Amino acid sequence: MIIELERGRQATLDQIRDLAVRFGNRVELSEGTGVYDTVHIIGDSREFASRESYILGLPGVRAAWQPTGGYKNIARVVRGNEGKALHRERRVVEVKGLDGKVRRFGGGNGKHIFVCGPDSPQTLEQTLTTARMAREVGEKFGILDRVMLRGGAFKPRTRPTDWRGLGMKGIAIMDAAREETGLPYVTEVMDHNLVEQIGAHADMLQIGTRNAQNFDLLEAVGRFGKPVILKRGFGNEAEEWFYSAEYIANQGNLDIVLCERGMKTLYTKGGYCRNQPDLNACTHARKQTILPIIFDPSHVAGDHRIVAENLMAACGHLVDGSITETVHTEAWRREQLCDAGQALVMDQYAILVEAVLEYEAHVAPKMKTILRMLGTD
Ligand code: PEP
Ligand code: MN
Repeated sequence: MIIELERGRQATLDQIRDLAVRFGNRVELSEGTGVYDTVHIIGDSREFASRESYILGLPGVRAAWQPTGGYKNIARVVRGNEGKALHRERRVVEVKGLDGKVRRFGGGNGKHIFVCGPDSPQTLEQTLTTARMAREVGEKFGILDRVMLRGGAFKPRTRPTDWRGLGMKGIAIMDAAREETGLPYVTEVMDHNLVEQIGAHADMLQIGTRNAQNFDLLEAVGRFGKPVILKRGFGNEAEEWFYSAEYIANQGNLDIVLCERGMKTLYTKGGYCRNQPDLNACTHARKQTILPIIFDPSHVAGDHRIVAENLMAACGHLVDGSITETVHTEAWRREQLCDAGQALVMDQYAILVEAVLEYEAHVAPKMKTILRMLGTD
């Protein structure tokens, strides 16, 4: 529900907030251009909305209306009847590190967040070495507050006999990497019963492509409240992806980062890439939702020799960051039990990071100017 409220009506705002909290919702306040502000009730607001007459009677309330479109919690523009519309600010999703630095995804600030690390932690040494190298990359380019680790301890695998990750032992390894480097980490959760257990350790949770429409899982991470990377289902339309995000948001958690990781198509059968990247979906997500959008060049490529082109192409679509699989040495590739062929060696990754930063400094501002001229930013 959207409420239009005279500016400065603090007592009414407090009453609205109290009611929202009672029904498990929270409020987002947007400053209007005139003398009214807009209060957006975040989460499943059906019960809240049933108190409409009480709300309309509160001092300073000018109107209260229901959004008519879908995914109202994450939409950039929330529309109602009679041409009503609420234009919202882009969301910044914050992930705090033990090093005291905050990684900020999105918000249109043009600062790419670099998530890197192994497909999965296998040994302490492998993971620590990769994490140290990630930290060095951050220090070298003065972007430590933009570097984060990844590593899936619970692995979704196509064949039941394939290695499925170290489970909680892998989480302990990721914890150790964070402890030593201060870098926060994201890790995949596949089972709604494990959200609290894994979430108590991880700084950010990942929903994988195969679970993009596992609604119990989406709701569980929504309730849990920590930041989430939501990968797009490999066969999902953009709308379906946004509705998956809406499942999380409907539980009151708006700390969602969308991630495009490619689709299965007829064209990927030739073996030249693993998944077809849908870069236009990144642009579409930026326009349609308030959420940050990142790109996964590794699962798109399936081959480390074509990761760079894919990531740079996504930069052309002004993504807010990337999540890239890396190994600490070429020799480790033989040992890596999952997604070995697509991992970039950290030294190569460092060069790619430099290229992204150059793009960000010199080309992205021009892209933004063009988009503003076209009226499509
Ligand atoms: C991963 O990040 O290792 C992974 C399994 O990703 P996806 O769900 O995109 O396949
Ligand atoms: Mn992987």
